[in-house]
Amino acid sequence: MVLGIMRLLWVLEELKKDKELVEIEEEVEAEDITYISRELDEGPALLFSNVKGRRMPILTNLCNKRERLMKLMHVRSEEELYEKLLRASESPRKGEYVDLTSASFTWRKREGSLSDIPVFKYYPRDAGPYITSGIVVAKSPRKGIQNASIHRMLLLDEDKLAIRIVPRHLWRIYREAIEEGHDLPVAILIGVHPAILVAAASSPPYGIDEMLVANALLEGGLKFVKLPESGISVPTDVEILIEGRITKEESYEGPFVDLLDIYDIRRKQPVIVVDRVWISKNAIYHAIVPASTEHKLLMGLYREALIWDNVRNVVPKVHKVRLTRGSGGWLHAFISIEKSSEGDGKNAIMAAFAAHPSLKAVVVVDGDVDVDDLDQVEWAIATRFQPSRDLVLIKCARGSSLDPSADQDNLLTDKIGIDATRTFLKPASIFERVKISPSERGLMIVRRLKEGHVSE
Ligand code: MN
Repeated sequence: MVLGIMRLLWVLEELKKDKELVEIEEEVEAEDITYISRELDEGPALLFSNVKGRRMPILTNLCNKRERLMKLMHVRSEEELYEKLLRASESPRKGEYVDLTSASFTWRKREGSLSDIPVFKYYPRDAGPYITSGIVVAKSPRKGIQNASIHRMLLLDEDKLAIRIVPRHLWRIYREAIEEGHDLPVAILIGVHPAILVAAASSPPYGIDEMLVANALLEGGLKFVKLPESGISVPTDVEILIEGRITKEESYEGPFVDLLDIYDIRRKQPVIVVDRVWISKNAIYHAIVPASTEHKLLMGLYREALIWDNVRNVVPKVHKVRLTRGSGGWLHAFISIEKSSEGDGKNAIMAAFAAHPSLKAVVVVDGDVDVDDLDQVEWAIATRFQPSRDLVLIKCARGSSLDPSADQDNLLTDKIGIDATRTFLKPASIFERVKISPSERGLMIVRRLKEGHVSE
């Protein structure tokens, strides 16, 4: 039996081969990690192996590139990635179980202390040190439904965390337990294969265990153990596993910087009491820097897949979907499509809004416009968009709590759709972007000058 094959260490070996991992060996303060990681936001994953006063290496920017995620999930195109993600969330895959003793050969058991984990504070006004990559797995006391989701957790004490829970699946399970008069046992996983994080960040309907979605994404590669005290099943390939209980006790949580580079407010949230902490040999602590590209990509990927799927039902072809970085990877989408009739751009806008309720603005462009290039999107708006004809404005729809300009209490926001596809009512040629076909010599000169510029 091969255990540990999906371990993060193995993923890092792969990344190293591809020059997609850089190890920072010089001593850094934990407080510098946010700045360094964000300045190198689009680069390789970063492993800080010598963080002052911390015994465990800290990993950031693990999931900050689509190409990297695609490779780790064995897909060759974005389309395949979306399809795989949607299929996995519709047909999760049961995992093979191993017993705790054979799984735990890589784990050391610790009793109830978080002090060995290098939890740190990301931004100056954050309420304190936060765990940001923790996948919280819980089981509903009534129906035994297992759920996994990512939550931010504020370190309160060496055996206590405050957890931010929005009213979704974990909240529902937690309320069931509290109504029955007991705490909710949870397992918190830190440091996993990126596919497990992508699955935990997805939101299939209640009743679907996101860890089995992860197993489908990894084509059955995960092994599971059932934790004896709680009966919760978790993948064995985890760097750090925390067992605890969400209690009815509450504590203040926040401020904390969220997706939009803005401090989220302070709220009373439930307290987790930690019972056991398991740490694997040579464990690595994965820190998702809030508002980093990694954070945005993990949050947005499944939503992009949903938008892609909805839009492709109403237009002949969807080229690319991007939840944009400027909007936290959450509020705005750029979508490039092939249209076959005049109204397709508008239908694409409606389909996108229906797929992702937090969406605030959508820009739809033709396939000749690269949605990863802001200049090109703006060019399409400048040359193909007429507000009186192409603007869709929806007032007071449901939106996101993250947008400070919206009515955050009632989750109300206005939405705009911009149809920047070219109209069929004018000749196609007037919208065409000029193309240059360079000579061999021209290509060579440009290449040389650019290389020279780089090496300067
Ligand atoms: Mn769920």
